[in-house]
Amino acid sequence: AYVVTDNCIKCKYMDCVEVCPVDCFYEGENMLVIHPDECIDCGVCVPECPAEAIFPDTDPSATPAWLALNHKFASSW
Ligand code: SF4
Repeated sequence: AYVVTDNCIKCKYMDCVEVCPVDCFYEGENMLVIHPDECIDCGVCVPECPAEAIFPDTDPSATPAWLALNHKFASSW
């Protein structure tokens, strides 16, 4: 799955939300998150993100803390 990281904080451009084919973006406290079980790994959101905040979960930028935070906020809906 893809993961939203710190560059998203207070961004709220929402470009990523509009292109996601499975609507797996959810609102966290001050950023958006991706539901890890709903993301189909299409990668379409990555070039759309103006903040360059989205990474595959295999990328070093997708730290365990960010993985946990995406899971936590996406699952709270
Ligand atoms: Fe949605 Fe595709 Fe981005 Fe996953 S990789 S969040 S399915 S647009």
